[in-house]
Amino acid sequence: MPGSYLIKPVLDGSYKEISHGNGIYLYDSEGKAYIDGSSGAVTCSIGHGCKEVIEAMNEQAGKISFVYRSQFTNQPAEELADKLAAMAPEDLNWSFFVNSGSEAVETAVKIALQYWQEKGQGRKTHIISRWMSYHGITIGALSLSGHTERRRRFFSHLESSPAVSPPYCYRCPYQLSHPSCGLKCAEELQTAVDRTGKEHVAAFIAEPVIGAAGGAISPPEGYYQRIKEICNENAILFIADEVMTGAGRTGKAFAMEHWQTVPDISILGKGLSAGYSPIASVIVSDDILCTIKKGSNLIMSGHTYSANPQSAAAALAVLKVIEKENLIQHAEKIGILLMKKLQNLKEEFSMIGDVRGKGLLLGIEFVANSEISAKPFPKDYNITSLITRLAQDLGLLLYPSSAGIDGREGDAVLLAPPLNITEVEVNKLVSILHQTLKKAEE
Ligand code: PMP
Repeated sequence: MPGSYLIKPVLDGSYKEISHGNGIYLYDSEGKAYIDGSSGAVTCSIGHGCKEVIEAMNEQAGKISFVYRSQFTNQPAEELADKLAAMAPEDLNWSFFVNSGSEAVETAVKIALQYWQEKGQGRKTHIISRWMSYHGITIGALSLSGHTERRRRFFSHLESSPAVSPPYCYRCPYQLSHPSCGLKCAEELQTAVDRTGKEHVAAFIAEPVIGAAGGAISPPEGYYQRIKEICNENAILFIADEVMTGAGRTGKAFAMEHWQTVPDISILGKGLSAGYSPIASVIVSDDILCTIKKGSNLIMSGHTYSANPQSAAAALAVLKVIEKENLIQHAEKIGILLMKKLQNLKEEFSMIGDVRGKGLLLGIEFVANSEISAKPFPKDYNITSLITRLAQDLGLLLYPSSAGIDGREGDAVLLAPPLNITEVEVNKLVSILHQTLKKAEE
């Protein structure tokens, strides 16, 4: 296979310019069409050029450009908070708005720390996270991220390391199988808590389905129920990082609904405004809000642009489109269809080791030869870069997602098209993927 298909570094001048988009398609300045097979970075969940969102943003821009959140509130932000409270399970009723997933993770951590301070438990300062995870690029969020490659350069500035293995059944860290494994990966949380001392642990953070760092790894049945039990038994807050999985992506409004588990803090980003304007939300329970409200500085984590009216109007319009077009139910249904087609590809191509995920957050893990073993391609083979570049040439955009822990390497791509993809478009996507794999085999 030619080595020239490596993804070139940004700014080397080889990147195409995208001129416009429509529905699930993007068009470059030379007129070539691409299926946005991963919604950008799993972001553009209602596709491109959505009129309702554009109109709502234009209308809002004509009213006010900006109000500072510590002086005033604004109507779109209030309405968005109400909508999220209605969508979120149980008493997750309160939103803190920020501008990105990384900021939201930082905010969630600060909320957890402040919560325990107000409860008189100021020694609870440690946050436990998992390997093979991604929670953001800022120093705090990166400290929690179990993405070895992204951590490497900044190691000296990271405040902590993940302490728990991911629930990665395809390459079980214990070489066990579910259910006879007894959910050892979940029990690891208890071990980590015991090691640190529960009086020091403030929260546990996890992505419901592991995205960028794992390629849509969905945990085995019972995993999150056990995680929540451990959190409750040890007085630890459970933060669900739904930046990638939330707002309908997995066929539920919040992915945690798949496991009937309600976290104490839930984080939305990406698909919340579907790429139209940056916004993320940290949603907390009544208990957390009431507790931190007792403190003297409730808004301890605002950014200048937090809760800005333009982004709030965009997110509100996105959620209305998702509701009106029943896109969450559609994502569940069409996700099953896409998954079946990926399983068919797995039968045909020995380079596919695993297909997985939930709803329209699906992943393919590549291996050297699945008929022999789950052994990955050699690292310098750059299989995800090759597949991604070949697919792009053929008009399909994928999201490369390489995972690596302790020498157990995995190479995966994410398939996460806009939630409003049709059956005809799914067939087209799979046909391009098929051609891509054929070319990669050459
Ligand atoms: N959490 C998760 C689960 C993510 O997937 C990402 C982004 N890929 C982030 C946090 C960080 O979000 P952002 O890039 O908007 O800062």
